[in-house]
Amino acid sequence: MQRPTFDELFALLSAASLSSSDLSRLREWIASIRDPSECIALIEAAAAGRPCPRCGSLRQHRCGSASGLQRFRCLGCGRTFNALTGTPLARLRKRERWLPYLQCVLESRTVRDAAQAVGVHRTTSFRWRHRFIRGAMRHRPARLGAVVEADETYRLESQKGARNLQRPPRQRGGVAARRGISGEQDCLLVARDRNGQTLDFHTGHGQVTAAQLHEHLLPVLPMDVLLISDGAAAYRSFARTAGITHEAVNASAGQRARGAIHIQNVNSWHSRFKTWLVRFKGVASRYLIHYSGWQRLLDARQLHTPALWLCAAVRQT
Ligand SMILES: [Zn+2]
Repeated sequence: MQRPTFDELFALLSAASLSSSDLSRLREWIASIRDPSECIALIEAAAAGRPCPRCGSLRQHRCGSASGLQRFRCLGCGRTFNALTGTPLARLRKRERWLPYLQCVLESRTVRDAAQAVGVHRTTSFRWRHRFIRGAMRHRPARLGAVVEADETYRLESQKGARNLQRPPRQRGGVAARRGISGEQDCLLVARDRNGQTLDFHTGHGQVTAAQLHEHLLPVLPMDVLLISDGAAAYRSFARTAGITHEAVNASAGQRARGAIHIQNVNSWHSRFKTWLVRFKGVASRYLIHYSGWQRLLDARQLHTPALWLCAAVRQT
């Protein structure tokens, strides 16, 4: 189907009889549209001076433009690229709606709600949500501070949206077949220092292991860290092999804190996450890390405008 021109659309719209709800929808939509050049200027500024995303060379020259973005040719590998090449935002269209859409992300609006607010299809809304989150969640501290609380939260594994279910389906709002933490649960490991810097890791199914703690935590802990956890054996074993100072609070024995030795900051992060997650009515396991990353960014309040979120999603790490 050929796309109508603006004049044709305008003629159609003028001829239509609009109800007051049509009018308010139209007004919301028009108010949400931004000049695409605003978005492009932010993207170009965030990516300024970036090396070639393929070979890392800084030697490049300008080579025309494509869909509004400056194109560069790399003198190292000869390929062309623009500010979005290699980022999760590459090849997404309708840039005039990105900033309004990001406002919906900041407001934690549902896929359907955000789609209606900015006038895109629900599948576009879903795709954008996950691309914008995947881009921005690379905005995370490289290393935590001297005192770190770590704890896991478990969620029943979900294959929501999967075409081929790998197991018999559960009833809606299903429960695990086995009690306690089993391979049916996704493990989300969260480490938070006393300055509020937070890192999240989806370690896989089942109880976290010492090897997983080694893999995820060791690179982000400072040498002289004091690690605080609950009494799970995996932390003790990890700390011993890694040569890390470790204190455990024995929650099962009713102990919650010994002075500054507690995991209340990380536990309250978990409870904020779970409360926030309710609105999405179940999230697929494969996207769990996106949702925790999304909540981590909202909770940290650093990317508190659409422009800041966009720049974080564009920037190379
Ligand atoms: Zn190159």
